[in-house]
Amino acid sequence: MLLLDGKLLSENIKAEIAAEVDVIRQKGGKIPHLAAVLVGENPASQVYVNSKIKSCEQVGFKSSMVRRDADLSEAELLEIVHNLNNDPDVDGFIVQLPLPKHINEEKIILAIDHRKDVDGFHPVNFGRMAQGMSAFLPATPFGIMEMLRRYNIETAGKHCVVLGRSNIVGTPMSLLLSRKGYPGDCTVTLTHSRTKDLPAEVRRADIVVAAIGIPQFVKGDWVKEGAVVVDVGINRIPDDTKKSGFRLVGDVDFDEVAPKCSHITPVPGGVGLMTVTALLMNTLKACRKEIYQ
Ligand code: NDP
Repeated sequence: MLLLDGKLLSENIKAEIAAEVDVIRQKGGKIPHLAAVLVGENPASQVYVNSKIKSCEQVGFKSSMVRRDADLSEAELLEIVHNLNNDPDVDGFIVQLPLPKHINEEKIILAIDHRKDVDGFHPVNFGRMAQGMSAFLPATPFGIMEMLRRYNIETAGKHCVVLGRSNIVGTPMSLLLSRKGYPGDCTVTLTHSRTKDLPAEVRRADIVVAAIGIPQFVKGDWVKEGAVVVDVGINRIPDDTKKSGFRLVGDVDFDEVAPKCSHITPVPGGVGLMTVTALLMNTLKACRKEIYQ
């Protein structure tokens, strides 16, 4: 069994991006600028945004943060989005989800200029991705695709089972893996909470992508010998031995599944770090106007 090491890979990719930023700086070009909007006090969201800002600093990007209390109105948030859309110095920005209940997330996503949508959540980017056109890919699936590519995981003709059909992970993952080219050309089964006999579906998979949000859900006897397992889940479970009182686990029961796999991502240290790195890759593309002129 080989670990798909998201930490090592993201350090390598970040070093490549930092080298490109150095070249831009030497040539007097525009330094990529990522902005993040954080509304409210959700602890996980704060951790995610801080790690995105820290990663920007590591590679030499400019970053900025717009922070507001949870009682911010929808109209005020739309105004912030509008200002970022029109700020020529900001190449890309993210509005960290989830938003407080009184704000319609869909409305906010639709208000983001798709040319600055480095999270890849806007329907223009989603539609372009589905049609195989260049687009900002959603960060988590983009990070996973990059991981498969850099580890030379064979995908053509493989049967891939994706668990979960969210707009940000499962559904885009199923589209990307079924697209023509590498990594891709898989035969994909997209599963969800209404799927009958999920273990039987997973047993047929050469590649498993688990994104459901239930701790250690995928068990050892669900997984075929030699499968590649990508665990997207990030779940907190109580752990008295930790100062924080909890530890992070994935959607896959790592101890049971790992011995059966050819490759597996750890949690933490797998997909999560690649997600942040993919956001940096998208920001560089936005600054270079690689997707949209
Ligand atoms: P969502 O809650 O949006 O979607 C969960 C999906 O899982 C739904 O499609 C749901 O089905 C399906 N599901 C739920 N229960 C079952 C079940 N018992 N059997 C089969 N399918 C089930 O989750 P996300 O996609 O946003 O996130 C999934 C996980 O990935 C979470 O742990 C999250 O924290 C993590 N995550 C990690 C990221 C990273 O960077 N590593 C980034 C984003 C998420 P249905 O549609 O029928 O309700």
